[in-house]
Amino acid sequence: LEAQLQQAQKMEAVGRVVGGVAHDFNNLLSIILGYTEVVVDELTEEHPHREPLEEIRDAAVRARNLTRQLLAFSRKQVLEMDVVDLNDLVRGFEKLLRRVIGEDIALLLHLSETPVMVEADASQLEQVLMNLAVNARDAMPDGGRLTIETGRQRLTERHSVLKPGLPPGEYALLRVGDTGSGMDRETLERLFEPFFTTKSRDKGTGLGLATCYGIIKQHGGHIRVSSEPGRGATFTALLPLAGNGAQPIATEAKQGAPAGG
Ligand code: ADP
Repeated sequence: LEAQLQQAQKMEAVGRVVGGVAHDFNNLLSIILGYTEVVVDELTEEHPHREPLEEIRDAAVRARNLTRQLLAFSRKQVLEMDVVDLNDLVRGFEKLLRRVIGEDIALLLHLSETPVMVEADASQLEQVLMNLAVNARDAMPDGGRLTIETGRQRLTERHSVLKPGLPPGEYALLRVGDTGSGMDRETLERLFEPFFTTKSRDKGTGLGLATCYGIIKQHGGHIRVSSEPGRGATFTALLPLAGNGAQPIATEAKQGAPAGG
């Protein structure tokens, strides 16, 4: 519990610093990019300065895309809450997910037979699904299975202790599993940390799971992972069911750091 709290506080602090830096960089990059474009446009194709300037411009574009990603991660999203059926959410997102994972990976939906209603910002939960699916795809370069499951889970007193901020009760469950490479202990311990990545520099930012973690926390929920090397990975998110009063919804600035501890 202590470790989880520390983790949440660390993420908040990192988020704030990163957000500030990214914001300033974004402004500076806009200046670099703007003037470079003006000059490039004035040069003929053959001008000896044209190519180096185009290199500068392209690097500035890449840097600006990165700062945008950082901003999206660090910004406290103001949630637009609705009552959402997780089954509808998954079905509505199915087509896009299929496109993202490609043809070599099968997408299996194991949806609960009854609606699973949560109070949530649907676009944020879609973001979670997307990030998990992209990671699953990257872990299955030779193909495999991606399974998305919805349902309910009862948290007993004993299990609730292990999940800071979640009182005992019934929760909505959203589970994303893959048959990919799986993870070793070190990765498992660190994967929700901002900027932790095992991917090459152009493929990974290490922000995907930190973002998922933040979104689920902001919804008053909990996300965990189970995995072994060579045996795939399964991410399980628990969210308060709509209207059962199990958990107040945190709307802003309250990420992580449940009271007491
Ligand atoms: P990124 O994808 O940019 O590396 P993430 O925060 O999304 O950042 O993931 C952090 C790390 O966790 C990844 O680099 C990878 O090592 C590991 N990881 C995440 N999801 C999976 C998965 N489904 N299977 C195996 N490893 C994973």
